Amino acid sequence: MKIILVGPPGSGKGTQAGHIASMFGVNSVSSGDLFRDNLAKNTELGKLAKDFMDKGEYVPDEVTIDMVMGWIEDPTHSSGFVLDGFPRTLAQAEALESRLLGSGGIDRVLFFNVDEEALVDRLSGRLICRGCHMPYHIKFSPPLITDQCNSCGGGLYQRDDDKVEVIRNRFKVYMQETEPLVKHFRESGNLREIDASMGINDVKRAIERAVR
Ligand SMILES: [Zn+2]
Repeated sequence: MKIILVGPPGSGKGTQAGHIASMFGVNSVSSGDLFRDNLAKNTELGKLAKDFMDKGEYVPDEVTIDMVMGWIEDPTHSSGFVLDGFPRTLAQAEALESRLLGSGGIDRVLFFNVDEEALVDRLSGRLICRGCHMPYHIKFSPPLITDQCNSCGGGLYQRDDDKVEVIRNRFKVYMQETEPLVKHFRESGNLREIDASMGINDVKRAIERAVR
């Protein structure tokens, strides 16, 4: 089973990736994991990627695709995979598809569709303890005392990444970038849309229906 997860940051696809993988007895991997892994092991691809990043440039698709293909072609991943966060652009998708032609291509693409307001609500409510870094959420897991950590009494703060205007901008950029990708997979017939605004367990059930 070869599954691809598409969805904006904060849509919860990372949380579901492991669950989907264990449903099919395969492994899941995120593009972020692959970068970190290749950098840590100082592989040729890792060194190449680092050169671009050090110059403040985007890592070219070819390098990323080689990392992903290296992982996919590892014999321990021969039963299939769940890819989280890759491909992210149409060019990456087409490159991946052409390299998977010999092994039957992609079986399912799950598009984690989340309403912008729900995403803003979810992400902008996150607070972190300055002392012990314990995460809280204004709505879903508030501290017992306002702005104070339950376990160490430290003050809580909002990360710059979680500010409303940053979230809205990231969402806009993501949707623009992935729109052609989603359209492409929709036309190929293996895209299933998941309403990712629901709670974790409802999303889980929707995924089970979509992949069976
Ligand atoms: Zn704390």
